[in-house]
Amino acid sequence: MSRGRGQAGLPPGLLCDERGRRVVLVSHCLLNQNTRYAGGATRSGAVAEVIEELIAAGLGIHQLPCPERLAWGGVLKRHSLRMYHSRGGPLYPLRGGLLRAFLWWTRLIYRRVARRVAADVADYHRAGIEVVGIVGIGASPSCGVRTTLDMRASLDVVAGCPATALTRDVMNQRAVLGCRRDGEGLFITALDRQLGRRGLSVPAFEHDLAAELRGERHTVLVTPAPRMLGNSTGFR
Ligand code: SF4
Repeated sequence: MSRGRGQAGLPPGLLCDERGRRVVLVSHCLLNQNTRYAGGATRSGAVAEVIEELIAAGLGIHQLPCPERLAWGGVLKRHSLRMYHSRGGPLYPLRGGLLRAFLWWTRLIYRRVARRVAADVADYHRAGIEVVGIVGIGASPSCGVRTTLDMRASLDVVAGCPATALTRDVMNQRAVLGCRRDGEGLFITALDRQLGRRGLSVPAFEHDLAAELRGERHTVLVTPAPRMLGNSTGFR
């Protein structure tokens, strides 16, 4: 776990205040569900119980950028929508190559975003503030920590499904949870690398998307044990 370094750089004594010097970085959509994939938002705004847990722990909450918004064409992630309902059309036979190009582009953008986030973590360290963790999102192809998405399998679901049949239930149960696999998302991979390059390490927790979709409450900061991102020999 990263360690704060005291009051380096601050004027001594009189300006001491109530800050806890502990911060957690959270995936963007835990505070703003408007960036979720279509059909995946379960709240109008934030996932309140997760945020309440972090507040109760006395942590500052730093909202990470939504990497898919930045790489996939904005809030609606337009680039990812092009293959929806494409079976029978000219793009469908090209989907393997298009997916490879899409992943290449995604990794390129994620490297830049992860570099900035790692710089933010370094900034907190320099300020003597402990980054106690990062909370990613289970089953996300980008922000998954322990579980991610088989994007090829998910693409087959959304490409093969006619527009009139692609319901919210089909999206969540078949295209997302049905295509979930062990592993980490592409943004978490990029962040792991960028933290490691700076000699930083941060524990990573995973929000259980399946539980959220079922309407169940769960805690993010306790179990399972966090894995370490960055320069660490901790739990993998
Ligand atoms: S899981 Fe990550 S990429 Fe997906 S909506 Fe949330 S913040 Fe964005």
